[in-house]
Amino acid sequence: MSSVPVFSVVVPFYNEAENLPRLIREVDGMLRVLDKTGEIILVNDGSTDTFAQPPASPAFAIRWLQLSQNSGQSAAMYYGMQAAQGEFVILMDADLQNDPMDAPKLWRKLRDEGLDLVTGVRVKRNDVFIRRLSSSIANAVRGALLQDHTSDTGCTLKVLRREAAKRLPGWNGMHRFIPALVLSAGYKIGEMPVEHRARHAGVSKVAGGKRAVRATIDLLGMLWLSRRQFKGRLLEEKR
Ligand code: UDP
Ligand code: MG
Repeated sequence: MSSVPVFSVVVPFYNEAENLPRLIREVDGMLRVLDKTGEIILVNDGSTDTFAQPPASPAFAIRWLQLSQNSGQSAAMYYGMQAAQGEFVILMDADLQNDPMDAPKLWRKLRDEGLDLVTGVRVKRNDVFIRRLSSSIANAVRGALLQDHTSDTGCTLKVLRREAAKRLPGWNGMHRFIPALVLSAGYKIGEMPVEHRARHAGVSKVAGGKRAVRATIDLLGMLWLSRRQFKGRLLEEKR
């Protein structure tokens, strides 16, 4: 394997012991389809369950990052992206609600259309009604206020160029606004339908009621940040 991988798959997890073996198997299969070098970055967000760390497969390095305490999905994704070495970062959940096999088509769209981020759209969403309803309200409000017309910002499955991923700021709730943050930093974004499956094992780790309130407060911060973020990007150094 060359020292700098082409793909970094970043997966936040909190108490997902039952899901990790299958996740790693499926991500491994997906990276084989992409047929380039890759690393799998598993970010342990202060899990309290016990899980075995399988050895890296010969083809792909597995990196285990550990947060000092449970800090939330945004923090785990943020640290994972900061650690990513690949030219392209693939984000997905650990519970297998995302199908890793969708990632190659997101990446091909990003490459062929010269985009910086492609996010999945969960067309047939496998979540309870109230979750789907609150997401559709949140997506509509966000679209109106932030000029980000991504249909499903909450779908973790995304592919980003490393540069766009590294520009994402770290704050709780950030992961719900990744397309808006990337767009308002001057990058090009797109979206594509993906599968959404039932959780493979375990229960949702995200508190229901508080989420809507927090997301609304975060919107106010996003209104400010999306206008005040640097729009320019650092171009390649001329030698
Ligand atoms: N997660 C995390 N830290 C947390 C809560 C969740 O890293 O404090 C991870 C979780 O293990 C999963 C992903 O974030 O990989 C999405 O969480 P979950 O599936 O519970 O959320 P839902 O699909 O219900 O929105
Ligand atoms: Mg889930």
